[in-house]
Amino acid sequence: MQLANHYATLPPRFFARMDPSALSAPRLLKLNEGLARDLGLDPDWLAGPEGVALLAGSAFPPGVTPIATAYAGHQFGQFVPVLGDGRALLLGDGVDVHGRPYEIQLKGSGPTPFSRRGDGRAALGPVLREYLVSEAMAALGVPTTRTLAAVATGESVIRDTLRPGAVLARVASSHIRVGSFQYFAARQDEEGLRALADFAIARHYPDLVGREDRYLAFFDAVVSAQAELIARWMSLGFIHGVMNTDNMTVSGETIDYGPCAFLDEYNPAKVFSSIDQGGRYAYANQPQIAMWNLARLAETLVPLIDADPQAAVDRLQPVLMTFRERYEKAADVLMHRKLGLETDEPDDRRLISDWLDLLRVASADFTWSFRRLADPEPDFPDLDGFAAWRARWDARLASEGCAPSDARVKMRRVNPAVIPRNHRIEAVIEAAEKGDFGPFEALLAAVTTPFADDPDYERPPLVAERVRATFCG
Ligand code: AMP
Ligand code: MG
Ligand code: MG
Repeated sequence: MQLANHYATLPPRFFARMDPSALSAPRLLKLNEGLARDLGLDPDWLAGPEGVALLAGSAFPPGVTPIATAYAGHQFGQFVPVLGDGRALLLGDGVDVHGRPYEIQLKGSGPTPFSRRGDGRAALGPVLREYLVSEAMAALGVPTTRTLAAVATGESVIRDTLRPGAVLARVASSHIRVGSFQYFAARQDEEGLRALADFAIARHYPDLVGREDRYLAFFDAVVSAQAELIARWMSLGFIHGVMNTDNMTVSGETIDYGPCAFLDEYNPAKVFSSIDQGGRYAYANQPQIAMWNLARLAETLVPLIDADPQAAVDRLQPVLMTFRERYEKAADVLMHRKLGLETDEPDDRRLISDWLDLLRVASADFTWSFRRLADPEPDFPDLDGFAAWRARWDARLASEGCAPSDARVKMRRVNPAVIPRNHRIEAVIEAAEKGDFGPFEALLAAVTTPFADDPDYERPPLVAERVRATFCG
């Protein structure tokens, strides 16, 4: 097993080199064999003793040089100058069978110099949650970190009570965050900033390498990627839950599945996270928060854009201001598709918002309602005013010359039947903590084929089953 570690070739102040934290009996819980093969890795080796030791962070083969990376971040609006990988290790990087670069990182593999008061560990529950949600997001076509494996450490971690410990192996095109830039900006370390920006550009936006205006173009590319990403989240009713700047990548991939959740009943003000008391990261706030985070990224880039700060701001600001329009455009395209519409008419905004209003007033399930709209004869006895709305929608579909049955086929490809619903995830975790991984396997299979009908898994929770709060792990 050879893994380059290009991030480790950056200056030493970017990271801390890490030794393994030996475990007596790590045990493989689940290997994502399809992903392993896509990455060009041998699933049999990964499932063997050396592979499991690596995936647990317990022993590293020669040629693997793990590091914990340094970053800063705004947590709920408060700047923290040093966060970093407190319970994560970057094992290294490679190129997948499609020629795309990737990194492998362990989460929960033991303390690092960035652990502060944390134990550097992860509990089984949050590891399984991240496995399910990240793989569901990938199957839904959302840019995201992936999960390569989950390993049981055989040790307990202290949370609300003693819980089984686990390590998640995650894969991303990089783990560079807005907070990575903030780390160097806060130290006025212009050389570090430039090295990081050039690294990120080479990794994610190689077409920009060597261009004079590459830092501004990089910012433009990040704004664009994030606008697309947030539009995808919104179209699926996804709530990230902790959109701190250290949890936002410059690649545009979703990262850090903590107290995230999908909407059940449609409510734009919905918050699940138990730590989000002010509702900062509520569902409908996500586009605005993304833009706030991008403003923080722009600030870090000022010295790279122009020696005169005002001149730099004058160039960054207009790019930042494109976020709203890009986001709205992307969200609008997705919402059109969800309603089976291909063209764009001025009255469509009204048709879309009226539909969402019907859902909101009736507290109807977001995912279920869109999916049912693709039924041959959609009927919603609980939605007041549905018949009138449907007449407008039918007329609009007819104006495209599209047969209703064709529209419905298209709608079923974009409106998932199955999402990783909270109450299902919690049931999976409860069973897994007792040693039964059957429910995990079954839910994983269902959420990774999200557009296939599944009468059991597509059912929304009953009111009594609804999960009201989610927690960080
Ligand atoms: P998060 O809220 O998951 O984005 O984490 C914020 C910061 O807390 C990051 O620097 C993490 O590495 C660190 N952190 C979270 N959980 C732990 C833990 N159990 N042990 C050490 N550090 C942690
Ligand atoms: Mg984080
Ligand atoms: Mg987290």
